[in-house]
Amino acid sequence: MSIPSSFIDQILDQSDIVDIIGRRVQLNKKGTNFWGICPFHDDTNPSMAVNQDKQFYYCFVCNAKGNSINFLRDFENLDFVDAVESIASVVGLEVPKTHQNIDTKEAININSRTVEIYKEQLKASGGNKAIEYLKSRSITGETAKFFNIGFALDEWEGLFKILSREYQSEDLSDSGLFSEKMKDRFRGRLMFPIRNIKGDPIAFGGRIIDEGEPKYLNSPETKTFSKSKELYGLYEARELNTPLKSVFVVEGYMDVIALHQNGVTNAVASLGTAITGLHISKLMRYSKEIYVAFDGDLAGRKAAWRVIENGLPILREDINIKFIFLEEGHDPDSYINQKGKEAFLDLRRTATPFSQFFLDTIKEQADLNTIEGRSVAAKFAMPLVSKINNQPLKEAYIDEVSKVCSLDFAKLIKSSAKSLPNNISSDLEQKNTKNSAKISRKAVLGIFTSLIQHPKLSEETSFDNIKQDSKFYFINSVRNKFRENLESNPSIVFESIEKEQIKNVFSEALISDINLSEEDARKMILDCISTISKSEKDREEILKEKYNMQEISSAEKRELQQIILIKENISEADHNLLRNLSIVSD
Ligand SMILES: [Zn+2]
Repeated sequence: MSIPSSFIDQILDQSDIVDIIGRRVQLNKKGTNFWGICPFHDDTNPSMAVNQDKQFYYCFVCNAKGNSINFLRDFENLDFVDAVESIASVVGLEVPKTHQNIDTKEAININSRTVEIYKEQLKASGGNKAIEYLKSRSITGETAKFFNIGFALDEWEGLFKILSREYQSEDLSDSGLFSEKMKDRFRGRLMFPIRNIKGDPIAFGGRIIDEGEPKYLNSPETKTFSKSKELYGLYEARELNTPLKSVFVVEGYMDVIALHQNGVTNAVASLGTAITGLHISKLMRYSKEIYVAFDGDLAGRKAAWRVIENGLPILREDINIKFIFLEEGHDPDSYINQKGKEAFLDLRRTATPFSQFFLDTIKEQADLNTIEGRSVAAKFAMPLVSKINNQPLKEAYIDEVSKVCSLDFAKLIKSSAKSLPNNISSDLEQKNTKNSAKISRKAVLGIFTSLIQHPKLSEETSFDNIKQDSKFYFINSVRNKFRENLESNPSIVFESIEKEQIKNVFSEALISDINLSEEDARKMILDCISTISKSEKDREEILKEKYNMQEISSAEKRELQQIILIKENISEADHNLLRNLSIVSD
């Protein structure tokens, strides 16, 4: 991973976690924090706190936590780079191109070279047929050039012969351009490079020119290409339209190109796969008006329904998704070529809103004039509505489905949801029944809270009282992180913590309601460090007691040995004890 950390700091600095989470989960301000229903566990109570100052969230039930990047990764199932890109696009920043993942660099080099080779082959005499084909589809040279359209010769080793002189065979075999026996995958095909959002060619789609199967062939999944994530034409649409006010989602790359040729330059296509949730969340980053334009036949309606299923969990009030169902026998390509740009754009006026298509489909499930039919429809709708994470939208959908089914749908949904602990604090108490553990946890919490609010207290020498072999030494690692950069955002310090339990305590400190003056914080640190050292000392006494009572376990024996061994001065009594411990210990 090689996005520079300064860039990550910058986007975390310029974006607002309350805005990012608030678009997806309803948040209400209470005290210093915003609270919402956590989307990462089943709940009806607001257990998730979002702190605007610290740009941090924490769930008291499932311990989900982190900054905006962590939230988006989990909520939209994005990888790190995509989550960073998502936030960068909100604040209008471009992720620096030069810091490309080294792992994919050679793959992209190979693809870029292949784009050039295919383009040359289209222009050479071997490409005549392909040029004829483009002409027959009224695609001009200018459009072909814009999309980098090329041609793969009908040869088994045409591309391989050229590339094998320039690249390592291992990289070539990973490229997706060749079969296992290193034969060219694409032969006799018009070639469409697929570019990622940065413009790098990451894969290819090929349409056969002569007779042959399959008509359309795409690159397989490679380290640069995941078809469930990438959209053909998104880079190109953004090149011509920034911001991308609206976007058409169509089924194939020929649709994208035909629309472009006719002046509709904001179309994208999925690549031989249904539209996934990842596709939708990617589009939502760049455009608030999404028109899904599919064929009006059964296959088209089925594909549109997949958009509903995959879109429900990530629905937002500020995004409009609408469906355009073309008359049977038409796809966007044939429609615009026959009826022209204006007629195509006009389809937006009669497009079916997402919620409308959803409700229409619910109504089609059964005869709503009978109780049985309405129950069938409700049963069909229930798991779908439950998928919606956005609370106000969920309630609106519940209202509408209740009307359609004449049933109290809210009740049905609630009774089907798992029963949950409704008292968070008592739940937390239960977790911390062990008194001593509770006290040290509180002490650590106190130290973290003080450091977060007054980073310069990391200079306090009292921290040096925590010895390197103490089980609380992690406090010093955290302290050092603050010390390295007194200005650094606490969420960066959070990232540096490895242990989950410590992360949880740090998260709690981050969203703490308590406001400490510098003096109080200094005192808090002193008190807490002394509590911790005392708890370690007490532990020695407890273990010795157990030893005397012959109730000590072998793990506890080892622990007691450790405690004694790290002392600066070992007393005569301790020496004897050590000897006895090692005799009987296994
Ligand atoms: Zn949770």
